[in-house]
Amino acid sequence: MPNFSIPDDVFFEAANQFPTPFHLYDEAGIRRRVRDVKNAFAWAPSFTEYFAVKALPNPHILSLFREEGCGLDCSSECELLLAERGGFEGRVMFSANAMPPREFAHAIHLGSVINLDDLSDAETLLRLGPAPEEICLRYNPGGSLRQGSAIMGQPEESKYGMPRDQMAQALRLLSARGTKRFGVHALLASNSTDAAYYPELARILLKLGLDLEKETGAVFSFVNLSGGVGIPYREDDPSCDIAQIGEDVRRVYREEIPSSRKEPVRLCAEMGRFMTGPFGWLVTHVIHEKKIYRDYLGVDACASCLMRPAMYGAYHHIHCAGKRDAKRDHIYDVTGALCENNDKFAWERPLPEIGIGDLLVIHDTGAHGLAMGYQYNGRLRCAEVLYREDGSFRLIRRAETPDDYFATLV
Ligand SMILES: *Cc1c(COP(=O)(O)O)cnc(C)c1O
Repeated sequence: MPNFSIPDDVFFEAANQFPTPFHLYDEAGIRRRVRDVKNAFAWAPSFTEYFAVKALPNPHILSLFREEGCGLDCSSECELLLAERGGFEGRVMFSANAMPPREFAHAIHLGSVINLDDLSDAETLLRLGPAPEEICLRYNPGGSLRQGSAIMGQPEESKYGMPRDQMAQALRLLSARGTKRFGVHALLASNSTDAAYYPELARILLKLGLDLEKETGAVFSFVNLSGGVGIPYREDDPSCDIAQIGEDVRRVYREEIPSSRKEPVRLCAEMGRFMTGPFGWLVTHVIHEKKIYRDYLGVDACASCLMRPAMYGAYHHIHCAGKRDAKRDHIYDVTGALCENNDKFAWERPLPEIGIGDLLVIHDTGAHGLAMGYQYNGRLRCAEVLYREDGSFRLIRRAETPDDYFATLV
């Protein structure tokens, strides 16, 4: 079930104060989510959530994560700049993929842990300077994976990570030059609401880490469970019980890590969607109606503010503010203004009767929402508003203007 914790009064009041469209984010909800995650893994040695910046790269949101004791997972120069300016030095996980060497240098300068994606990245690191004390290695198990019930997919088609033997090679290369400790990382699911995903992944990574330690002599120091934990986009989707997931990972950890072990094996995660996804809504007015072979509602937002439906056909729940409980006895396509027929937020969606001037609330836009926005067709990206714990609103990113659109032209 999508998140309905914010009453419609709040959406109406926000739309009173700021022109639509905008994404509204719930500070209290995000803070609660961080605390739930930290409680779920409080048993693990120095558990850290490195929030995946790409999900919601706004400094005002990132500062909530800093205040709650999280780090950041970055994978580009601008994301590193967000971390640097947000005071995250020493609390950054840097996930490389086809990475320009100078971005490695920037990440090292910030005291980041580098998550190596490839054997050649180890060589790049050594060309840049001394070997880091501690390194992370990204695993790609290959094949068509079905390990247990929750981990499925086609890792052999994935561009990320290394096979086991290349991880060992990278580790030997680095430890010969001074690297002492290593962690292992894998991201083998996306938006998984299967409670078994993290525990099964933890088992794979714990076994792998212990194995690589035996083989190379470097000390296995952490497991990075990465992201991929899902949220309920549809009304009948299950929610992840993070407390239960934490307990299940704990059981796996106890089974795999000998109690006699001296060196602690830390645990970390890089969740994006699970942390902020349910705590964002795209708020948009209906500005147009059209009845041809289908009934269309045209809204003032378009795919430039939220691309997931256009790009993946992703479902985002929509409700009409003030008509939450009204009978959904009409069928609409909800569309933006792009000259692209996939610029729709919903296809044949049952909704109450809706007309021009109604306020629509598109759910679960707090992760991979505005962040994926673009300017195709000269449509500009919208604003972001924070609904603060004290009940006030704060504009945390203004909408783009034509000046922004023209700013890069020479
Ligand atoms: C995108 C990404 C994440 C976060 O994924 P979610 O599905 O949003 O949890 C974490 N780690 C890495 C390396 C990523 O690329």
